[in-house]
Amino acid sequence: MTMQKTFSIIKPDATRRNLTGKINATIEAAGLRIIAQKRVQLTQAQAEGFYAVHKERAFFNDLVSFMISGPVVVQVLEGNDAVAKYREVMGATNPENADAGTIRKEFAESIEANSVHGSDSLENAAIEIAYFFAQTEIVG
Ligand code: ATP
Ligand code: MG
Repeated sequence: MTMQKTFSIIKPDATRRNLTGKINATIEAAGLRIIAQKRVQLTQAQAEGFYAVHKERAFFNDLVSFMISGPVVVQVLEGNDAVAKYREVMGATNPENADAGTIRKEFAESIEANSVHGSDSLENAAIEIAYFFAQTEIVG
């Protein structure tokens, strides 16, 4: 077990339905600590930059439109094996395939409007955290 930080986004479908608290309760119940958090409206350029890895995918334009359709909550989570742990807590990308009790199974509307993002590797976690947070905003 190693202490890690991962990056999370509570997506616009979830903020719209007032689910920030319920999602945070699920995160905390899993043993992850929210050590930085802010609610922001992403610009198109920020959303395109964040999802640049997907820019050749058919769903890219829709994904960017969705991510700027309302406020998001960006977060840094800390815990033992936080990167893999949070992926487990989120559940599969498509909520139809997500396990019971996961955030996406409980709350997601569709494969696109799937309520949360979580980093997929420790390396990407560091990049994504730095994309949104200054070191002084992260209080472990
Ligand atoms: P995230 O990166 O948001 O944590 P993920 O790693 O489970 O999710 P990715 O493959 O990285 O999934 O896709 C990024 C996001 O793009 C997904 O969370 C979802 O919102 C959207 N997405 C992925 N596949 C599709 C698809 N086939 N149709 C529409 N949107 C999709
Ligand atoms: Mg991903």
